[in-house]
Amino acid sequence: VKNTTIAPSTRPHVIIVGAGFAGLRVARGLRGAPVDVTVIDKHNYHTFIPLLYQVATAGLEPEAIAHPVRRIVAAPNVRFRLASVTGVDLQQRRVTTDAGDFAYDYLVLAAGSVTNFFGLESVAEQATTLRELDDAETVRDRVLSSFEAAAAEKSPARRRALMTTVLVGGGPTGVELAGALAELRRHVLPRDFPELDVSQARILLLEASDRLLEAMPQRMQRKAFEKLRSMGVEVQLGARVTDADERGVTLSDGERIDAAAIVWVAGLRASPLAHALSDAPLGAAGRVIVSRSLNVPDHPEVFVIGDMAHAGGRDNPPHPMVAPVAIQQGGLVAESILRQTQGKKPRAFHYKDPGTMVTIGRSSAVARVYGVPFTGFVAWLLWLTVHIVWLIGFRNRALVLVNWAWNYFTYERGVRLIRRRR
Ligand SMILES: Cc1cc2nc3c(=O)[nH]c(=O)nc-3n(C[C@H](O)[C@H](O)[C@H](O)COP(=O)(O)OP(=O)(O)OC[C@H]3O[C@@H](n4cnc5c(N)ncnc54)[C@H](O)[C@@H]3O)c2cc1C
Repeated sequence: VKNTTIAPSTRPHVIIVGAGFAGLRVARGLRGAPVDVTVIDKHNYHTFIPLLYQVATAGLEPEAIAHPVRRIVAAPNVRFRLASVTGVDLQQRRVTTDAGDFAYDYLVLAAGSVTNFFGLESVAEQATTLRELDDAETVRDRVLSSFEAAAAEKSPARRRALMTTVLVGGGPTGVELAGALAELRRHVLPRDFPELDVSQARILLLEASDRLLEAMPQRMQRKAFEKLRSMGVEVQLGARVTDADERGVTLSDGERIDAAAIVWVAGLRASPLAHALSDAPLGAAGRVIVSRSLNVPDHPEVFVIGDMAHAGGRDNPPHPMVAPVAIQQGGLVAESILRQTQGKKPRAFHYKDPGTMVTIGRSSAVARVYGVPFTGFVAWLLWLTVHIVWLIGFRNRALVLVNWAWNYFTYERGVRLIRRRR
């Protein structure tokens, strides 16, 4: 095996695939430990995914929510490799990448998730997604380009379609996107496009089930629904998208909605890398079924964590795909690897749910923190504080705070750039 990573060493070599919330937590937990660590990611930066929607709605520049991995994991025993992992050989203990093979003693797979279109190919072709930094820029480009096209359009019907954005999926991302887009439409676009009657612009939030924010208490679901409606978002529950083309979407009951921008935020599934583990069983959403201590059956040296993992066996309900699960699992796995190097057994994972927060535009949010519900301005302040604390890097925190303060007091959105015109 060509091991391009480290000089020969007698210390165990830990490979971590993915510098997301889970992988970085493992790397940080192993800093200064008697192991050599290689973090591999296809990007040289970590993305703070919870704020992608703000990049998508011109509230933040992409750089404000990304941070170089090398800077985050800097430690004498930790190395970074920029590479896409393509396979894992569990028998030979080797990882295959587009930049060579790497041998490991311990492997942590934390490659996250990808958008799930549930087999709707036409939708996958037409819709934009929101999972990576590039996606967020694409959504922004698409919404703003459509308004530019509307400004040049003669037909009123076509003009209205060009000013219509369809968001599919009433989970936290759909709700946050809808709120932020409604504010863009209210405060920013009318000034930018004096030639357009922006009050004609439509934002539709389509949800297949009978409620928004499934994981939230009913009272919060209602609050979110009412708040979005009061902001002029057309929320449609029980609306299942079955088809899409370049002019819009079709619902299961045959209704047709003409729209220039379709954003699909209706589901995620585990990274396709899950299939590389030939011996490992897969559960719902293609997540790898791992033991309570988060390792692949019969492979105590291989851990799968974060969005990729379904912990505790098939009969255990999967944990939600959220950052706190990924971070807590990363902490446990760093500890487990060190315990195993000392001949001790790994411990079982127990999730401590800190709750959920969803912001709905300016000064408004719904939150459940350790079981206690919050709404309105207090929830929004909590949301703000938690996201600033979570963000990695002082520079990013400063950038985000300055942007938010600027947007808040001026009703502006500084990043209304179309970088790739469709
Ligand atoms: C739009 C959106 C908003 C969200 N908002 C919230 C929120 O507000 N709060 C919350 O708790 N959760 C939120 N989540 C969920 C949360 O982001 C995930 O649960 C979390 O990121 C999972 O962490 P992870 O480490 O498993 O994966 P990720 O953080 O996605 O990290 C995976 C890493 O693996 C890398 N990678 C992938 N494939 C390969 C490969 N083949 N080779 C090399 N590297 C690879 C990726 O580049 C990435 O850096 C949101 C998710 C989305 C999509």
